[in-house]
Amino acid sequence: MQRFVGERQVYFFEEYIPTDHHLPYLEYHPFAGTDVIAVRPRIPHWWDEAQRETALRGLLDTLLRLHGVSKPVLWFYSPMMFGFAKHVDAVAIVYDCMDELANFRFAPPQLKTLEAELIDRADVVFTGGESLFAAKRGQHDNIHVFPSSVDVAHFAQARKGMAPAGDLNALPGPRLGFYGVIDERIDLELLEKVARARPDWSLIMVGPLAKIGPDDLPRVPNLHFLGQRNYADLPAYLAGWDVALMPFAINEATRFISPTKTPEYLAAGIPVVSTPIADVVAAYGALDAVNIARTPAEFTAACEAALALKPGDWQPAVDGKLAAMSWDKTFDQMSRLVGEAICGDRPVIRLPVMRSSKRRSAYDVVIVGAGFAGSVLSERLAADSDQRVLLCDRRNHVAGNAYDKHDAAGILVHQYGPHIFHTNSDAIVTYLSRFTAWRPYEHRVLAAVGDKRVPMPINRTTLNALYSLDLSTDAEAEEFLRSRAEPIAELRTSKDVVINQVGAELYRTFFEGYTRKQWGLDPSQLDKAVTSRIPTRCNEDDRYFLDTFQAMPLHGYTAMFENMLDHDNIDLALGVDYADIRAENLAPRTIYTGPIDEYFGHRFGALPYRSLAFRHETLDQRRFQPVAVVNYPDEAVPYTRITEYKHLTGQVHRQTSISYEFPQADGDPYYPIPRPENAALYKQYADLADAHPEVSFVGRLGTYRYYNMDQVVGQALAHYRRMNVSTDMAVGS
Ligand code: FAD
Ligand code: UDP
Repeated sequence: MQRFVGERQVYFFEEYIPTDHHLPYLEYHPFAGTDVIAVRPRIPHWWDEAQRETALRGLLDTLLRLHGVSKPVLWFYSPMMFGFAKHVDAVAIVYDCMDELANFRFAPPQLKTLEAELIDRADVVFTGGESLFAAKRGQHDNIHVFPSSVDVAHFAQARKGMAPAGDLNALPGPRLGFYGVIDERIDLELLEKVARARPDWSLIMVGPLAKIGPDDLPRVPNLHFLGQRNYADLPAYLAGWDVALMPFAINEATRFISPTKTPEYLAAGIPVVSTPIADVVAAYGALDAVNIARTPAEFTAACEAALALKPGDWQPAVDGKLAAMSWDKTFDQMSRLVGEAICGDRPVIRLPVMRSSKRRSAYDVVIVGAGFAGSVLSERLAADSDQRVLLCDRRNHVAGNAYDKHDAAGILVHQYGPHIFHTNSDAIVTYLSRFTAWRPYEHRVLAAVGDKRVPMPINRTTLNALYSLDLSTDAEAEEFLRSRAEPIAELRTSKDVVINQVGAELYRTFFEGYTRKQWGLDPSQLDKAVTSRIPTRCNEDDRYFLDTFQAMPLHGYTAMFENMLDHDNIDLALGVDYADIRAENLAPRTIYTGPIDEYFGHRFGALPYRSLAFRHETLDQRRFQPVAVVNYPDEAVPYTRITEYKHLTGQVHRQTSISYEFPQADGDPYYPIPRPENAALYKQYADLADAHPEVSFVGRLGTYRYYNMDQVVGQALAHYRRMNVSTDMAVGS
């Protein structure tokens, strides 16, 4: 469970409990020591079913909104929850079918219909045992069986001299015990008869009563019902038992069960007596330690035989079986299947898997640069194609320019300037959502003009504020801009684009100085693509981006990258420049996401990049500016913008951290500079790269493109798909 949490936040939306309060609400029960939170909906006890369903739907929406969860994975243990959750826009739906609940006593009539609907919508279905799998396998094309596993170390405590639970002391041995829910699945008549047949034994039942009351229990002096105990305390009960029982009734409710307690009992070193439950017989029936018995007389005899067993005779076979089971294994398999369900567009053609015996190099691929391009490719190659990846970065961290960290004050800041994630691509969100939850965030920017702060991009509010106007409709604003615009026939440069739209004055106010500072060039020297990124609006929409998806990774970019790169096939070499390992030929293939001209020793001349210096500060005040970013277009101000990070992250802190950006020529290459002569120089390098099939170039620096993060992710995923269909990664190549 903890490993799931490392990758995403887990909320257990539990079955509702009635309350005396007049309004529905959510009760939080965090699991100590983990980030898992159980959330218990509470509903006024007098509400009818329809009111309850509406309330549950509302509470679920509240939960998602409160935690900034968009496009969650919905994981259902019961179809009854599907009714009020099916409207949620989920990235994947998992139906983890643990029982044939419709066969249980008092099963609600709509359960079967809801289950059919859930199976129809599910991307992947898990069944908790073989019988259940056999019953359901025809109903879904992506259905898998996961019989119970066991935490051997937890239950093996009982074998290692643990003191038995205190309330067993009063009960004379031999002791034969059961733990689990006590309902119509337990054969109480069988229990009563065994207890009466052997008054010298203590029969001990641990667990809550469900759907039956204390009056339904047989009254026999040596049959004890102790009530529910915690999972943590179960080994202490097992430590005091001589035989473990599974006195299940053989009925509709038990036809498909696959009791988790079987391997738990065995891990505790206790022989088991069970009625003939199909999954127990099939999986464990051949073991000496597991006796199967049907009638009370057979069951009593089987208990006698179990008591006579010597642990040395049966434990080696049991331990051999247990060694092959682990929740980690179940986790890995489930995690892969859920991952595939999320990435619905997974390519069908896969890379040939290299067998390690045939590997001539230490790795299959060396990837240079742990930014978006390098990390996405590492993840895909490692997790989807079983390739061994060495990922190096000369910086001592992952995430490239998107790197964020907590500064000395504990405030999450972006070391290389503000990074706001925005995209129109569902596929890219879907992919990244495997590694992070999201915090919805819409970016707003103000520009400092004199002592005014006005919205940027230019909108109606900007015009009204700047010129003391009262333009009240889009049409009025459009007319105003038309009166100022200076139409240009052929738009080539960044200056043309703006003048054409808003005229020289607004161009000078907002673009000329800013661009000269940012690029060290006049807008007339830059490709039109640069300022075309910034629209002009006639309405009052003051968002910087209009993309359908705008959000920040809930725990930051670095955390997202760490999840992405957490794979056994990936070795990370941070603080390592490719130049220092290049000669070692560590892999037959290289993916290079650093500057392409550097890879080729600048042989055609250096490609120009624009750099930045950042001044980070922490201030002793809660708020510094009203929005995350304020631009300073005035050429006399040495920086271009100030960012206040708490706006981006939503962090609450009594101080605040900001950064100033000072553009400069020298330093880390942050921006390829879009202008025709640079494109021509890049083309020379790109042609050279074509002659080197052993290396590919990806990313903002590798392909010399002024790309946003989502575009780099898209480019990397597309590159991966192309690698899949090529044959140049064949075994031993
Ligand atoms: P990078 O993140 O640059 O990663 C390349 C990595 O390669 C670097 O870590 C580098 O150290 C490493 N490297 C290079 N050469 C070598 C070598 N020889 N050996 C070892 N390692 C090497 N995009 C948005 O979508 N939204 C934004 O708000 C946004 N804001 C930005 C703000 C700033 C100030 C900057 C500079 C960029 C911004 N971007 C934004 C763009 C975003 O940063 C890039 O699109 C993205 O980071 C590119 O990823 P990448 O993997 O191609 O490159
Ligand atoms: N720009 C400007 N004034 C502004 C904002 C942007 O002149 O107030 C120009 C500038 O040339 C900038 C370009 O528009 O480099 C693109 O801006 P964007 O915010 O998209 O750049 P980013 O910081 O995301 O690279």
